[in-house]
Amino acid sequence: MPHDHHDHDHPHALLPPEPALRVKALETILTDKGLVDPAALDEIIDTYQNKIGPQNGAKVVARMWSDPAFREAMLTDPMPLLEELGFYGRQGEHIVIVENTDDVHNVVVCTLCSCYPWPLLGIPPGWYKSDAYRARVVREPRKVLAEFGLDIPEDTSVRVWDSTAEVRYLVVPQRPAGTDGMDEEALAKLVTRDSMVGTGIVQAPTQDSAS
Ligand code: FE
Repeated sequence: MPHDHHDHDHPHALLPPEPALRVKALETILTDKGLVDPAALDEIIDTYQNKIGPQNGAKVVARMWSDPAFREAMLTDPMPLLEELGFYGRQGEHIVIVENTDDVHNVVVCTLCSCYPWPLLGIPPGWYKSDAYRARVVREPRKVLAEFGLDIPEDTSVRVWDSTAEVRYLVVPQRPAGTDGMDEEALAKLVTRDSMVGTGIVQAPTQDSAS
């Protein structure tokens, strides 16, 4: 039989079941074989954990809110601009920008694994990688969004985007009321990670003086 195989010759069987242990085991094997430099791995993790984070995506969103020409270009062909901004690289293979409006609310998932726009949002949160989120957001998006505290109006459609190894999505949340006088830097501070995945919205600034 062509597909007859036994567990003992299946490479996965050699690794422990817990993801963290599997990663550690792989790292040890690769390091022992001289295939990776542990310092280089630490550097990559540090970069995506500490130096790159949702602040990059927030800058893009704030500029799209402020600059109509930039917004138009980002919605049409974002890659040249993202490269120019330096928000490009590992796990950012091809980014598609989807914009929330009164008519449509976008939310992003990776049903297969955990593909995510790293150069714009950093390392994905735990819930994004969970089996529950990945399975349920496709099946019952409004219910999942409600659990995140989002009440999407009946006449707003919810669109779920499934990321792949090739295509990653960034959601542009709606600009809240009361932010007319704010510059890009101040606007960027309002933009949360979850709002750029579609599991959050951007709240209006709380200070009365901002209106
Ligand atoms: Fe994935």
